Amino acid sequence: MESVESRIKVLPESVASQIAAGEIVERPASVVKELLDNSVDAGSTVISIDVVNGGRTLIRVIDDGEGMSRADAPLACQRFATSKISHPGDLTGIATYGFRGEALPSIAAVSRFRMLTARHQALTGTAVAIEGGDVQSVEERGAAPGTRIEVEELFFNTPGRRNFLKTTATEFSHIAHVAQQAALANLHMQLRLTHNDHVVFDYPKVTALEDRLLQVYGPRVMDIMLPIHDEQVGAHVRGMIVNPYHAKTGRTPQEIFVNRRSVKNTTIAHAVYESYGSFLPKGRHPTFVLMVDVAPHEVDVNVHPSKREVKFRNPDLIHRAIKGAVRVPLQKNVTAPTLSPGSEEWVPHHVEKAKPAQVRMGEPFVDRLAPSNATGVQRGSGREQRSETDQVKESPALYSLEPEVQILGQIHATYIVAHIGDELHVLDQHTIHERVLFEGLWRGWESRHIQTQPLLIPEPVDLPIAAATPLAEILPELAKVGLELECFGPSSFVIRSVPALVGQMDYVSLLEDILEDLSEWNSVDSLDKRIRSVLASMACKGAVQAGRRMEALEMQHVVHDWLREGSPMTCPHGRRISLRFGSEELHRIFRRL
Ligand code: ADP
Ligand code: MG
Repeated sequence: MESVESRIKVLPESVASQIAAGEIVERPASVVKELLDNSVDAGSTVISIDVVNGGRTLIRVIDDGEGMSRADAPLACQRFATSKISHPGDLTGIATYGFRGEALPSIAAVSRFRMLTARHQALTGTAVAIEGGDVQSVEERGAAPGTRIEVEELFFNTPGRRNFLKTTATEFSHIAHVAQQAALANLHMQLRLTHNDHVVFDYPKVTALEDRLLQVYGPRVMDIMLPIHDEQVGAHVRGMIVNPYHAKTGRTPQEIFVNRRSVKNTTIAHAVYESYGSFLPKGRHPTFVLMVDVAPHEVDVNVHPSKREVKFRNPDLIHRAIKGAVRVPLQKNVTAPTLSPGSEEWVPHHVEKAKPAQVRMGEPFVDRLAPSNATGVQRGSGREQRSETDQVKESPALYSLEPEVQILGQIHATYIVAHIGDELHVLDQHTIHERVLFEGLWRGWESRHIQTQPLLIPEPVDLPIAAATPLAEILPELAKVGLELECFGPSSFVIRSVPALVGQMDYVSLLEDILEDLSEWNSVDSLDKRIRSVLASMACKGAVQAGRRMEALEMQHVVHDWLREGSPMTCPHGRRISLRFGSEELHRIFRRL
């Protein structure tokens, strides 16, 4: 009968002796990691983690995975008992997180351990209680399908290790980190974490890595990252890396996953640092989340007791692959300005010709639309005017990577529907345009090349006195970003010129926005930060608004520009740009898989 069926076996000595030995349970986070690994290996789709007191008092992991039979439940808590491998040969090409059958016994040896587990077809479940390694009871009990494990009073019998623990906050932050890593590596899983009964996060399952990244890191971090999606010889690399313009002195996050396993790996880390090379100012570090997938036999996971490291069979190949993959978005990002729609605007003597955004977007640009035309040389009127260095920097090969775009239409006068590569995208016309404008403005600011466009008829602006004073104080800063105002009496101004890239817009409401932001700045904020928020406001006001009908060509235009910016996922204010469905996702929804 199913409830007594046994799948777990104690590994023969010949296999057990080949397993990298060492301490598994160093701190509460190690327990969480091992339990999560098991839950994922059990095919769970919903996992919830409850932690009390940084994990010292209680760690509880509940999953809806395959559960264990009456026979397996006690067996699982024995050393070297595993359902995942059985022969020495199985140690190469391991596809599960676990393989050595050591986690549960190691945890149960240093805690009060309770397990309640049931297979999905079973009528009852099994409860196992172990205290400091001694089995107290194994009982039949009613249980929901899946497994619930509670680890109470960790290290109660090993005061040495208990005293080694750090503060509750520190231990909990390690736990949260481990849980987030599990979420990043397993998209089709809902993951919930509580601490002392407070929900710390509850990530619904997702289908796109980008969406998980957004859940875990939030729009502020996403905003400064460039996506990576690259197929290299020997490795498939996905994830995100920091835009070097925005690299910080800190090193979080620096996450590496190899075949869904979170690892420390110097080969990969080194390749990333080398790719950034001179892109990074001194003292800045790249931050990144990299999902590296390689053939299972290319990687040995049995080299570290808590499986935190892996060894590549061919490290050089991996090093090259990572470097190749990381360079793509970096170079794209650096060369992108030269491809912005109003390329003329970057050339001083064309300033007067620059047109307002709305008009510019309607211009034909068909000649710029052939990314598959891999020569990359003859593609647009603005390009010939670009400096030679720009042309040298831009390797044609980069553009062959740009996916094919087919605009399907506009819906609700607000969303662009497009087929990009093999994904269906629903794009917010405002946020996508806003982001494209922002990137152009930001580059202009960074290279001190924001082109201005004088207004033929200077536009008068009247503001309340309370707003006029702070505005008068930042006129020089506004001038630096191409917005030239002149004071005309205590509360009146005229706008003389505006940044060419954004053109016509509602300047009064722009100034109101800027003033609102101004009240949130403080004296220690860097000029970059303040400028950033001014530029973000400009991009927002200059971008096509929701509710406006767009021509097919305009939509093509903005989507291509967005792709050339590395398809960032949010506008500068953190609002989403795209909702995407891969073909797999669609097939899954329609149950074609
Ligand atoms: P390993 O994961 O290396 O096999 P563990 O000690 O972590 O070793 O677990 C032993 C066995 O217990 C696993 O091989 C698996 O069969 C079973 N097991 C552990 N946790 C779960 C779970 N949450 N759901 C189903 N089975 C589990
Ligand atoms: Mg395990």
